[in-house]
Amino acid sequence: MKKILYVASECVPFIKTGGLADVVGTLPKTFSKEEADVRVVLPNYQCIKSEWKDKMQDVTFFSMDLSWRHQYVGIKELEYEGITFYFIDNEYYFAGPAPYSTMEGDIEKFCYFSKAALSILQVLNFKPDIIHCHDWQSGLVPVYLKTAFAANPFYQNIKTVFTIHNLQFQGMTAINRLKDLSGLPEEVFTSDKLECYGGGNMLKGGLTYADEITTVSDTYAEEIQMPYYGEKLDGLLRAKNNHLTGIVNGIDYNIYNPAEDPAVGAPYSVSDVVEKKAANKVLLQERVGLPKKEDIFTIGVISRLTDQKGFDLIDYVMDDLCQNDIQFVLLGSGDAKYENMFRYYAHKYPAIVSANICYDDTLSKMIYAGCDAILMPSRFEPCGLCQLMALRYGTVPIVRETGGLKDTVEPYNEYEESGTGFSFMNYNAHDMLHAVEYAKATYYEHKDEWNGIVKRGMEEDFSWTRSAGIYMELYDKMLDA
Ligand code: ADP
Repeated sequence: MKKILYVASECVPFIKTGGLADVVGTLPKTFSKEEADVRVVLPNYQCIKSEWKDKMQDVTFFSMDLSWRHQYVGIKELEYEGITFYFIDNEYYFAGPAPYSTMEGDIEKFCYFSKAALSILQVLNFKPDIIHCHDWQSGLVPVYLKTAFAANPFYQNIKTVFTIHNLQFQGMTAINRLKDLSGLPEEVFTSDKLECYGGGNMLKGGLTYADEITTVSDTYAEEIQMPYYGEKLDGLLRAKNNHLTGIVNGIDYNIYNPAEDPAVGAPYSVSDVVEKKAANKVLLQERVGLPKKEDIFTIGVISRLTDQKGFDLIDYVMDDLCQNDIQFVLLGSGDAKYENMFRYYAHKYPAIVSANICYDDTLSKMIYAGCDAILMPSRFEPCGLCQLMALRYGTVPIVRETGGLKDTVEPYNEYEESGTGFSFMNYNAHDMLHAVEYAKATYYEHKDEWNGIVKRGMEEDFSWTRSAGIYMELYDKMLDA
């Protein structure tokens, strides 16, 4: 049986800021227990809720060398849904109200975390065949493995996979600072390793030293090899092209299930989605303070409010959009400029726009259940989970054709009666507006065709089963090599 260790900075249900947490929390339990012993290492953030902290068991603690410092490493353990989770405990590094603070502060935190994640293995006498790292926060794991731990027999022959969930975040700082914080030897700070345009780059370390790289959709795997999407690492990714695979994310179909979701007031499945969606729409309108109209075309946006997600396009045509017979429900938080932008439109069009500037799981599911469409005009989107959740809840995605959005939403074709959503290609506000108006016209004027799109979406299968099989094939290939 294979032994696999996941190293990541967030994971549902313990701590989540984005889609990464869903992936790390769901994928390990999807593999069959006969096939693989998958364990997960996470930071024991102070902000993890006490309902989880109370269940953690103390295993042991020790002192670890990190550059010129000696740092405390505590190990806590929790078994949940058949998976063993190790939490690395250090009150200095993992204090604070959120998992991440400033990039500068986070660099030191995740140098420590990456080295500690390897150090605990010998203490626990758990030697994985494969370590699977996620995003820049665990980028130094493959680097330490092949430098600081290279001479230790316990750490021989461990393979590493590095998954890029979002190439935009790289863990970059001044080279001397990274040398000092990581204690890594001089020879790794060359331009073919961690050096990157004059700085030290933790993500680049992971990409350089990992045996295999994956990212979360086929299209994103192609896109990041080009300068527009490559975030200055496209050259390296082209060079490692033979070891770069796109594997699309899934969602947990047990948790995201409109027939059993307690947040859904009128539960439904594909057989009664049309009637029940109308009921859920009214519940949503009540909840967010919009006029109750069960037959109005309702568009939802659920998102971090950042430049990545294409809100400048929405801003550009929002006045045009609001001339239509629609409602628009926003749930999100993030950059002040977008928070204020949506507050402004909610103030300007109180009967059309509802701006919910917060993070709220229950409301997100009410939106998936009650809206007709979900809008995602992303500038780039490695995979995107929002559109997968929308499909599951019979809510039609309107997306820009990029990354995982392109791979998971099939554009509606009115002549063949095929497709699960609406899409546009160029990053252009009027192209987006056209896609929204096409969706709206289909909703109002071709109800049967619209309902066909809704049902085809619900019948898609974006559960983890298929993707987990592809990860397992990759692990097998690595171990055979
Ligand atoms: P990203 O990982 O870039 O933030 P994804 O689409 O991959 O985007 O995943 C976003 C996830 O977070 C989805 O599950 C979405 O429903 C959820 N989400 C985003 N913003 C909020 C919010 N304000 N409240 C509740 N859930 C949210």
